[in-house]
Amino acid sequence: MVGPWLDKPYTFRALRKTFGQMWVRCDACRRYARLRLTGLLEVDCRTRTFSCSRCGAEAFVAVVEPNQERGMEDYRLDEVEAPARHPSAVRRLTGGRRSTVDYSGGELPSRRLDPRR
Ligand SMILES: [Zn+2]
Repeated sequence: MVGPWLDKPYTFRALRKTFGQMWVRCDACRRYARLRLTGLLEVDCRTRTFSCSRCGAEAFVAVVEPNQERGMEDYRLDEVEAPARHPSAVRRLTGGRRSTVDYSGGELPSRRLDPRR
């Protein structure tokens, strides 16, 4: 027998053991998708955020299929093949910078556009 606490707490693996299939839902689009845990099983779920690949809004993990919840009957299953982060979510998560990689060489890009300097 395998005891319930052999898994590290708060990993997605532990969550999945407790809840089974989970979902991520977007309240802006009223859509949801199965939470795919490939590569996430050992990750602390408190360190992960999800976003909607259609509109970029914050997405939330749900342990009950959203359209089974009261008041969410109109949520629709909308799976995206190989979902990618929406550009606006990337901007939000990286603090408004275009990219996490700094290509400016230490100089602020706007400085070069100012002829007085
Ligand atoms: Zn959305």
